[in-house]
Amino acid sequence: MNCFWLIPEDQRFNNWILHHDSPDVGVSLRERYASYACKKCKKVDEEAAIADGIDREVTIQSKSDFLTTDDGFICVSQRLKELLEDQSVQGVRYLSLPADDRYMVAMPSSCLDTNLEKVGMECHRPCPVCGRYRETCFFPSLQSIAVPEEPNDLYCPSVFIENTGGRQFLFFTSEDTVRILRSGKISGLEYRKTY
Ligand SMILES: [Zn+2]
Repeated sequence: MNCFWLIPEDQRFNNWILHHDSPDVGVSLRERYASYACKKCKKVDEEAAIADGIDREVTIQSKSDFLTTDDGFICVSQRLKELLEDQSVQGVRYLSLPADDRYMVAMPSSCLDTNLEKVGMECHRPCPVCGRYRETCFFPSLQSIAVPEEPNDLYCPSVFIENTGGRQFLFFTSEDTVRILRSGKISGLEYRKTY
């Protein structure tokens, strides 16, 4: 069975969940999440931080149904959430934004076990304190991921794509689910075959 990564298209606007962008200071982590940042590499434990709540100031500037924020979170429109729920596509926890009911943050409900020896990624400069890699290259290989037999839900592997700012949450799914998204004319998305 073919699977596809759901790749967010480039966005015209910058959006942030855990950070904010002010004319004076530039982009910085919101104060309330400071305790979730690694003292050494400054990366934030995204799962823990977001579980602590999303700031009342956060809104999304976009016309797409699917997008990534500049701090690596996938956001989906209300319309995409309803489409996935109508079609019983699971694997996603939807976190609402207190100030914006058009969008929600899509987090994986659980991550699929991924074999580090077969993952085929380059992982550079692990942090001596939190252990996260400063940067990774390439996508996890499909053969390294424990994919269920009928992979029609949305999935994240347990090995994440990291950049200097943090991790990029990325989902993949089956060709059947891609067909649903295509026929629903979901915007902001490209489909890249997994290998
Ligand atoms: Zn660290």
